[in-house]
Amino acid sequence: MPSYKAPVRDARFVINEVLEIGKLAELPGFAAATPDLVATVLEESGKFAAEVCAPLNLPGDQAGCTRHADGSVTTPDGFKQAYAQFVAAGWGTLSQPERFGGQGLPQVLGFAFEEFLSSANQSLAMYPGLTNGAVGAILVKGSAEQQALYLPKMISGEWSGTMNLTEPQCGTDLGLIRTRAVPQGDGSYAITGTKIFISAGEHDLTSNIVHLVLARTPDAPEGTRGISLFIVPKFLPASDGSPGDRNAVSCGSIEHKMGIHANATCVMNYDGATGFLVGEENKGLAAMFIMMNAARLGVGIQGLSQAEVAYQNGAAYALERRQGRALSGAVDAGEKADLIFVHPDVRRMLMEAKAMTEGLRALALWIGLLVDLAHAATTEEERQLADDLVGLLTPVIKGYGTDKGYEVATMMQQVWGGHGYIVENGMEQFVRDARITMIYEGANGVQAMDLVGRKLPANMGRAIQALFAQVDKECAVAKDNPGLADLAARVEKACGELKAATMWLVQNAMTKPDNAGAAAYSYMHITGIVALGLMWLRMAGTAAAALAGGSEETGFYEAKLTTARYFAERCLPDAGALRRKLEAGSESLMALPPEAFATA
Ligand SMILES: Cc1cc2nc3c(=O)[nH]c(=O)nc-3n(C[C@H](O)[C@H](O)[C@H](O)COP(=O)(O)OP(=O)(O)OC[C@H]3O[C@@H](n4cnc5c(N)ncnc54)[C@H](O)[C@@H]3O)c2cc1C
Repeated sequence: MPSYKAPVRDARFVINEVLEIGKLAELPGFAAATPDLVATVLEESGKFAAEVCAPLNLPGDQAGCTRHADGSVTTPDGFKQAYAQFVAAGWGTLSQPERFGGQGLPQVLGFAFEEFLSSANQSLAMYPGLTNGAVGAILVKGSAEQQALYLPKMISGEWSGTMNLTEPQCGTDLGLIRTRAVPQGDGSYAITGTKIFISAGEHDLTSNIVHLVLARTPDAPEGTRGISLFIVPKFLPASDGSPGDRNAVSCGSIEHKMGIHANATCVMNYDGATGFLVGEENKGLAAMFIMMNAARLGVGIQGLSQAEVAYQNGAAYALERRQGRALSGAVDAGEKADLIFVHPDVRRMLMEAKAMTEGLRALALWIGLLVDLAHAATTEEERQLADDLVGLLTPVIKGYGTDKGYEVATMMQQVWGGHGYIVENGMEQFVRDARITMIYEGANGVQAMDLVGRKLPANMGRAIQALFAQVDKECAVAKDNPGLADLAARVEKACGELKAATMWLVQNAMTKPDNAGAAAYSYMHITGIVALGLMWLRMAGTAAAALAGGSEETGFYEAKLTTARYFAERCLPDAGALRRKLEAGSESLMALPPEAFATA
């Protein structure tokens, strides 16, 4: 049975020491987030994740969800009780607005908890995770009446939320949506259609489920300009807000799938179900994007979460399994073999996992802080900068973060050798659960296109220029510090590759769009490498200062410096290779005709 312990010390390092949240106390929402409170929330939420949710992960994977003849769905044993504890402790309310029953703490804390919960049990974490996205859309686009009716119950966790985009013929291309919404004359709409792959579409954890559904009104224009967003509750709320009549929405089946078995992935049938318009007709996509952006950040965190839990178990195994001898001579002469930990190739995998998980955690938490600053920063200029960086980095943490999360999970399975392939050891579950993160919320290729096609050119490249400026500024400062100068020079070099790749796109993609499509994936990865380089520069700077200040936690801070060096020497150079690949253009990619791919 695999184990999990929340990386509380590392999250505290990032939030309190690197991001220095304590220095932001004068900003709205930050006063309560003192370093002590941050430490307490991380400690307690980490305990909840590790002690209550993690033990249910492997049995939940084996049992899966069950759909019954009446269309109801039950989650595995223990999930109901764990979710009830989640609600009772108010964990879902951490970063939600106080006016709807939330605790109003900064988003960055919510992000840390999301990682812990998802490492412990990704399937379970998805039930409240999707609710968060639905809450975000109603908060921004819902009417005051809708907000008052739905948000307090969704934020407390009494009710859950879902997002319903996908249909059999409509995945990435939302313009193909067919679900119909016909006005009923009383302000409501009758929703008819079939949605597939709906996470948490039906379950037994909450007394009501609030579906957010994309559909078309009868006269809607074709394509994405004709999509509207509707709230379709499983039970129509009565006038006192309690769940009333059963709505005409039901779960037709649940999918049998590769991973996240304990999260119900449902076919949802809408048979003239009563729905309520959110925002304006035909403006649904913009509203859904609010939800999708939140969900994309959440999925990026899932990638990190599976890397972390796999890393913990990979490292533990490397420190207990004995095979072979160290190349430089026996380390444990009294034993018949040394720990596999002594082998450089095993270290390669462990160091890669450590550098990636800690780097991605720093990036996720920085983005969490930027989400906060986009609302709370003092000046319009600072708010815009934060918002630009969130927009730019969202496809990066989703695409690059989940690619790396999956890679790390697979590497940690490799550390276990054949035992990693055996179900009861739990390592293969991390790989299976991590795999979906590269697919849903927009497959990673689509994230790359979002980065290159939308985020990059928006406002004449303002966001990427802001990232360049940030990297240049921090490298310039770090280069004056002898302990950081080499790392800073390497980060600067990787950023130079990103600048050159950006220039190549400007010169070669406008006239030939396939060049943009062919370059996008490499571009997303170079951006990820540079963003993590910046994180490692910051973490190394903080660690060096702590050591210089006489900290007694020398093991923790020295490990940070060594891991930063590993990232600099072994990860940053990939930026150059990726740039060369990108500059090859689209020709060899697009040259072959369809018949060359047809198998006999
Ligand atoms: C377990 C699970 C849970 C899910 N949960 C939900 C949910 O809660 N709600 C919901 O609405 N949906 C959900 N989905 C659906 C998921 O978001 C989609 O599967 C995903 O967005 C991709 O759509 P698709 O499967 O139709 O693939 P397609 O759109 O058919 O894409 C197939 C491939 O083509 C590529 N591709 C397609 N278009 C482009 C393009 N323009 N440029 C470049 N590449 C392109 C894609 O990257 C992908 O690699 C879930 C799916 C799964 C498997």
